[in-house]
Amino acid sequence: MRAAGLSLAVLLALATAACDSSTSTPAPSPTTSSPTAAPPPSSGPPTTPGGTPTSSPPPRAFDAAAATATVRYLAGELGPREATSTEYRRALAWLETRFEAAGYQVKRQALQVPAGNSWGVPVRAGTTWNLIATKPGFDRSAPHRIVGAHLDTVPQAPGAEDNASGIAVLLGTAESLPAPKPPTVFIAFGAEEPRGDGDNRHHYGSRAYVASLPAAQRRALRGMVSLDRVGVGSVVPMCTATAGQVTLQRELRAAAARARVPTRSCVNRSSDHWSFVRAGMPGVRLGSTPYAEYHSARDLPPVVQAAQLGRIGRVLAAWLQS
Ligand SMILES: [Zn+2]
Repeated sequence: MRAAGLSLAVLLALATAACDSSTSTPAPSPTTSSPTAAPPPSSGPPTTPGGTPTSSPPPRAFDAAAATATVRYLAGELGPREATSTEYRRALAWLETRFEAAGYQVKRQALQVPAGNSWGVPVRAGTTWNLIATKPGFDRSAPHRIVGAHLDTVPQAPGAEDNASGIAVLLGTAESLPAPKPPTVFIAFGAEEPRGDGDNRHHYGSRAYVASLPAAQRRALRGMVSLDRVGVGSVVPMCTATAGQVTLQRELRAAAARARVPTRSCVNRSSDHWSFVRAGMPGVRLGSTPYAEYHSARDLPPVVQAAQLGRIGRVLAAWLQS
């Protein structure tokens, strides 16, 4: 392309971007929350002027302040959420209410987890649950995507970064994108954290979900993204489970470029994307920046940065709308 043409293209792009950020993106509604109350469901998306009852409302910008309120509620008020604990069940019920308020049909998938040792702390056998949210009319044999985040923590950590941050972006994305195409399934996984060593004492919820998928649904899955530790740092880690599987990672990097968010590539298997990749489906993890408070009682809300939640939210929105 000639220099003059390039300049024009750049100017047009800048003008469009300026317009997007100043006029056409509705301002997120302010979030009110007290130190003792769960953040309320954010006000509903704006209605479409002249829209029919069947039309979907337009997407809203990802609300990093509302996502931060989710982190404060889960990690600052509920505290540690080991997969079989009372606090886990409270977090599950709260999240279910929020998804329902945003117009999703929510299903609980129960699974049994064994006793074991989670990061140095004995844990008992018991029941945990995945929470699966879809829009009414979702056809699981048609092309779709999955966004997941684990809701549990190790027993000793309030889990602000690991992984209230991932749940905050999961919920905020579900609330702000009313009708992504292809459709998206949002899942909060139980018992991601280890109860012993090795692949089979880890990621129980996502393995149970994958095991329950009929072949047609496996074939229809276009990509699974696991949000795991997504509120620390200023660059977005995009991890494949195996070095060679880069197609989905490339899609996500392209989305990040459109959202003007810096990324880095990595390879790791220590999140729920691995359960999908092990079973032959495409999966990538967003997040994993190391931090000092990992799996400790100090993993509290101030560890999580709203700006990073916002970056992840923008990357995910750009991907889900492509
Ligand atoms: Zn985690």
